[in-house]
Amino acid sequence: MTWHKKDKVNMTKLRLLRIFVQFIMFLLMNLSFFLIGATWLVLPVVMPKSIFTTSEGAFDLLQRMLTTAIIPLVPLAFFFIIGAVFGRMFCSWGCPFGLFQDIIGFLTSKINKYEPTKDSNDSYRQIGEFITGGTVLVAVVIGIGVGLGDTEQIRASFGVFSEQPWTALSPATFLFTVIPLLFYWGGIESFFNLNTLGQIDIFFWIRFIIFAGGLILIIYVPRGWCRWFCPVGIIMGQIGKNSMIGVGRNITKCTHCGICEDVCPMGVRILSHPPEKVRSEHCTLCLDCVAACPDDAMEIKYL
Ligand code: SF4
Ligand code: SF4
Ligand code: SF4
Repeated sequence: MTWHKKDKVNMTKLRLLRIFVQFIMFLLMNLSFFLIGATWLVLPVVMPKSIFTTSEGAFDLLQRMLTTAIIPLVPLAFFFIIGAVFGRMFCSWGCPFGLFQDIIGFLTSKINKYEPTKDSNDSYRQIGEFITGGTVLVAVVIGIGVGLGDTEQIRASFGVFSEQPWTALSPATFLFTVIPLLFYWGGIESFFNLNTLGQIDIFFWIRFIIFAGGLILIIYVPRGWCRWFCPVGIIMGQIGKNSMIGVGRNITKCTHCGICEDVCPMGVRILSHPPEKVRSEHCTLCLDCVAACPDDAMEIKYL
């Protein structure tokens, strides 16, 4: 089965549209940068709160609430309502760190990519699940301490991790908060001035190493961070695999050519899922498979 030019053009157009929507979402979430007043949006994406942002990611807010001994009903409601209807759609159409990964993937598309086996995919994902569970546990422990009145001691013991244990180390925080703040406070000269950099604390370099590791990962594994390590992806994957909106395969049209699997940026084994709906925790509803299918067999499904 050959892949028709029309299908490649369809996919390129769709990807451009997606990048456009992601870019608009990025601007909406960073309106403070343009001195427009803050509004609160809590979306299932990675977005640390800073002086630039108008919104905070649901998992970032969840940690902040847990560590201040508040039951995180708001972020949980956003996770469950959005996940039940749209699944992980915001990962493809709204997340700024997803946009960053797509841009890196596009710029490095000539580099040979690593396609993990199902087993290694599952093993790496377990690391992400461990990180997610560990983060929630640490946040709950901090919250209990704060609730018992030991706020000062807890804050001193956990230091930079005392408000948002995962966000503190997230590569998205480094990209969207740490680097912009460096420019904002010191200007571009300070960023490239070795003397100034020497004064930056060790925590900066730990974040830098994690960010650099994440960057290498996403160069070789498309959306590698989203596939395995992002807590939002882990949570939304579990809620969203049974979402109302999804993609499915029309078996009367499908010729089993496998092109849909080849183009899927999340490595979903589409043909091994029930044709009525792809029920994968990895599917982010990017619709690449729909645009690429030469037989129009991939369809958007509702309910
Ligand atoms: S899984 Fe990826 S796209 Fe989704 S919230 Fe996390 S970083 Fe963003
Ligand atoms: S759904 Fe389309 S792209 Fe996927 S195997 Fe069937 S015909 Fe090929
Ligand atoms: S299965 Fe289709 S819609 Fe889902 S992530 Fe893969 S290409 Fe995108």
